[in-house]
Amino acid sequence: MDFRLTEEQQALRDTARRFARQELVGLARALEAKNEPVPAAMRRRYAALGFLGVNMPEAYGGLGLGHLDALLVLEELAQVSPAVAFPVFESATGPVRAVLHFASESLRRRILPAVVSGEKVVAVAMSEPDAGTALTDLATRARVEGDTIVVDGRKRWCSGGGHADAYVVYCRMSDAPGAAGIGAVLVEKGAKGLGFGQAETLMGFRGIPSSDLYFDSVRVPADNLIVPAGGFRQLMEAFDLERCGNATMSLAIAAAALEEALAYVQERRQFGRPIVEFQAVQLKLADMAIKVEAARLLIWRAAQNAADGLPSVADSSIAKCYANEMVREVAATGMQLMGGYGYSTAYRMEQRLRDAYGWGIAGGTIDVQKTNIAAALVGRRFNQRR
Ligand SMILES: Cc1cc2nc3c(=O)[nH]c(=O)nc-3n(C[C@H](O)[C@H](O)[C@H](O)COP(=O)(O)OP(=O)(O)OC[C@H]3O[C@@H](n4cnc5c(N)ncnc54)[C@H](O)[C@@H]3O)c2cc1C
Repeated sequence: MDFRLTEEQQALRDTARRFARQELVGLARALEAKNEPVPAAMRRRYAALGFLGVNMPEAYGGLGLGHLDALLVLEELAQVSPAVAFPVFESATGPVRAVLHFASESLRRRILPAVVSGEKVVAVAMSEPDAGTALTDLATRARVEGDTIVVDGRKRWCSGGGHADAYVVYCRMSDAPGAAGIGAVLVEKGAKGLGFGQAETLMGFRGIPSSDLYFDSVRVPADNLIVPAGGFRQLMEAFDLERCGNATMSLAIAAAALEEALAYVQERRQFGRPIVEFQAVQLKLADMAIKVEAARLLIWRAAQNAADGLPSVADSSIAKCYANEMVREVAATGMQLMGGYGYSTAYRMEQRLRDAYGWGIAGGTIDVQKTNIAAALVGRRFNQRR
């Protein structure tokens, strides 16, 4: 076991860090203020640097590296802001992984190189008004009619809704109840009958616009099938990698909060000396650092254990759950350490605290991660309906 990054990984991380800090700080502020996603021109810059295809096979234009390499890049960008990191999150850990693992070769060829080159962003549409944690209650339907699939229903809380170029839509594809009837299809923006709701105003996630999706007899080619009815388990396996991306967003926010607080307490003077001289301040810094390092190790373990495959549900849930909880604590401590300045929008800490809360709801709530962890510990799922 070796906890050090290789020279190549360090170089990749340094490149991402330099780029993020030199080129993305101002952009992040602007996108957050307007609640707009990363523009296509900047996505193409990411693509030119290889950031959108780090862990995508070379056959589809990627670098063919590991998940850990991709998460290193994601963390660096997300330390500036989750808004500017979102395209990397989507391409490295998002729903395109389901396309990569389960879709037909022709659909892969149509979608994956376009994602890696920054031309397309693919979002995920799972949640519905009455199906959040109880995702297997989802009611959006997809039926095969000859060489097309017809989708009807409504999705909620889609990050990228209205802006993404394609959506991996979880649908009920047979009359089998619960998970057994669920499959997924890809629906591209512009499909007739696909509509979007108003952009949501969220507490955080500014620069990652979210909206409802409406499907009114939307027809897509049969080749857009990702998994048929009965494929829910596969979709959840691909989602284990998304959990690592979600955990990395949390980690990055916390790491950035620590960095900002560390600089602040060495500059800010009270009682004639820098506040870092006070032991109560030192203890808070140490607690923040311990939590950040622990989260990073859990995420790296999940990614490393996955090798070329997908992380285990236990590894990814433990990493996500811990990172989601710790970022709320670390960002809150960072704000406290900065006093009134931490609470001001003139500094970045309040944005970090607002963003910290979203990741423990998105991708499955913290408590649900805990039920996954307990299930893995005892070796069986707990039926939430009995
Ligand atoms: C910022 C953000 C981004 C999102 N992005 C997307 C996206 O891109 N695509 C998408 O499809 N969805 C997205 N979502 C939706 C997200 O997946 C759901 O909000 C989440 O799964 C929780 O569902 P819910 O909001 O309906 O809450 P509910 O399921 O109603 O849960 C409410 C509370 O009850 C608790 N609870 C429910 N059931 C149980 C149980 N069995 N045991 C213990 N506690 C339970 C939950 O933990 C939670 O605290 C996003 C959400 C947010 C906040």
